Amino acid sequence: MKKKIVKEIRVDLDKCIGCRACEMACSGFHAVPKFSSTNPARSRIRVVVDDRKDVYVPIRAGEYTQAECTGRNTYTVNGKGYKDCSFCRASCPSRDLFKEPDSGLPLTCDMCESDPPLPEPMCVQVCRVDALIYVEREVEVTEEEVKKDEVVIGLESLANTHGLDKVIDEISQIYKTMKR
Ligand code: SF4
Ligand code: SF4
Repeated sequence: MKKKIVKEIRVDLDKCIGCRACEMACSGFHAVPKFSSTNPARSRIRVVVDDRKDVYVPIRAGEYTQAECTGRNTYTVNGKGYKDCSFCRASCPSRDLFKEPDSGLPLTCDMCESDPPLPEPMCVQVCRVDALIYVEREVEVTEEEVKKDEVVIGLESLANTHGLDKVIDEISQIYKTMKR
C-alpha cells in the first residue's frame, strides 16, 4: 500500500453570498495564457443562484457522463422545491453547463493542478467569506490505484492541451498499430 493525498473543497452553504468571484478566478486561471481573460462560462465552478429563495450553491464540475440520467424529479428541502439537475456536478448531454463554450468539450475541476503548485486552489483563495474550505487528507491506496491516477492525470493534461478528439484519435491510431 502507498500513501496518497486526497484534495477536497468543502462548501459552507450558510456563508456563500453568491458573489461569483470563484467563477471569475477559475476561468482566469484556466485561460490560455493564464489570466488573459475571465469568462464564467469557461469556469469549472458554477454558482447556482436563486435570489427569490436565497439559494447560492457553488458546484465544481465533476466527470463527463455520456448517459443522461433518468431521475427527473423535483424534491423539497426546507420548504423550497428543486429539480434533480439543480445541484448535479456532471457535464452531460442534457445541458450546457460545464462545457467549454467554443469547443463544447467537457470541463472538469482539476483542483488547479499546476507547476509550481498553488498553496490553495484559486476559487478558495478568492472566496472572502470562507464558504470554500480546502482540505488535504492522507489515505492508503494500492500501487494499481496510484498508476491509474497517473494515467488519468496524464490523459487529462493532454486533452486540455490538444483537445479530447485529438487525444482519442491518436490513441485509436496507436491501438490499431499495436494490433497489427
Ligand atoms: S466566491 Fe465564495 S461567496 Fe462568492 S460565490 Fe463563490 S463560494 Fe460563494
Ligand atoms: S479548484 Fe481550481 S479548477 Fe476546481 S473549481 Fe476551483 S478554481 Fe476551478
